[in-house]
Amino acid sequence: MIQAYFIPTKTAAYISTEDSFGAHNYHPLPVVLKKGSGARVWDVEDKVYFDFLSGYSAVNQGHCHPKVIEALISQAATLTLTSRAFHSDKMADYTAYITRYFGYDKVLPMNTGVEAVETALKLARKWGYLVKGVSDGNAKIITVEGNFHGRTINVISFSTDASAREGFGPFVNGYLTIPYNDINALKEAVQDPDVVAFLVEPIQGEAGVLVPDAGYLQQAFELCRAHQVLFIADEIQTGLSRTGKLLACDHEGVKPDILILGKALSAGVMPISAVLANDSIMLTLKPGEHGSTYGGNPLACAVAMAALEVLKDENLAEKADQLGQYFRTEIQKWKHPNIKEVRGKGLLNAIVIEHNDPEAAYLLCLTLMKNGLLAKPTHSDKIRFAPPLVITQEELDAAIAIIKNSLTVLE
Ligand code: PLP
Repeated sequence: MIQAYFIPTKTAAYISTEDSFGAHNYHPLPVVLKKGSGARVWDVEDKVYFDFLSGYSAVNQGHCHPKVIEALISQAATLTLTSRAFHSDKMADYTAYITRYFGYDKVLPMNTGVEAVETALKLARKWGYLVKGVSDGNAKIITVEGNFHGRTINVISFSTDASAREGFGPFVNGYLTIPYNDINALKEAVQDPDVVAFLVEPIQGEAGVLVPDAGYLQQAFELCRAHQVLFIADEIQTGLSRTGKLLACDHEGVKPDILILGKALSAGVMPISAVLANDSIMLTLKPGEHGSTYGGNPLACAVAMAALEVLKDENLAEKADQLGQYFRTEIQKWKHPNIKEVRGKGLLNAIVIEHNDPEAAYLLCLTLMKNGLLAKPTHSDKIRFAPPLVITQEELDAAIAIIKNSLTVLE
């Protein structure tokens, strides 16, 4: 069913160079971007698109947000890296700022999302041995089916996605996997006295924007509390205003014992991640037991503070909530025969495509691209729609019109 898509010469040349010299660990759409501003990006042919992926929700504040870029440039010209062998003025400012912002005693700064996940898992194990009293080497962490927390060997050890694991064993022990959104399964799993933590995405992003039942997170949190099990929320994709609240856990009034942030913590400018927890957990880690050369570097600290400020200054959570409801309502109105479901929260949404051609979602993404909107299928039949939260009502209306027109390709 997929018709040949004409790839302009310049674009084809860049793709061919990247194919020749870059590893083939991704399958990008055939578009080569060179510039971004707000909710839009431009390709090397000067064609403009709405970005409905936002760097997998890293660019919540919009491409090249002037306040974040200003902080980046000013700090880049002053001091970029000290390593943690020395203190920096920005690290002091940032630790005070982010802990107050989220209401935790301490922050541990890292770089990529998966590093922050690794940090949280190490922290939970340490706490399990030192505070809960689990015997050495026996700590277990509960994870859920369909999870996505990154790509290291430890993290893929509890992935349930065959393509993430195949060919990468042997794996790391110490994980129990239960179904997502199944409170009874969790009730059973927390009975094991060696369980130290439950790791969960409040909405599963990579799995195709799976929103658990109302009350799931709150009940899960209470079960964890009752059994002295740490509730770890991976808000790398769902956090920072994306779902219509600062954190997706805020929808259920849950304050995780360990909070993991990444992606939009830098507004898409550089890899910045963080783990937040209170002293009883965080201070179980001692000097020399964990770290990273770049974690907490002055440049990252300055960028993260600016990125967090933008979220509040521009009321991006409220905006995501309102625009997200509007977006889902508009799509639902069409009652399109090939859209089996529209789901999501705030501006983290997905449609599920029902079609006899297994390539239909990919074909639709190619057509969207042709018509000026970039989105990518996940798990073959789902398309995630997650524009930068700075998108205006007019831009969203224009994007919705593109989606509507593009659907004709499936008929
Ligand atoms: N956790 C979640 C929920 C994610 O969505 C991702 C990335 O998509 C990660 C962790 C990994 O982050 P990174 O790619 O920065 O390592």
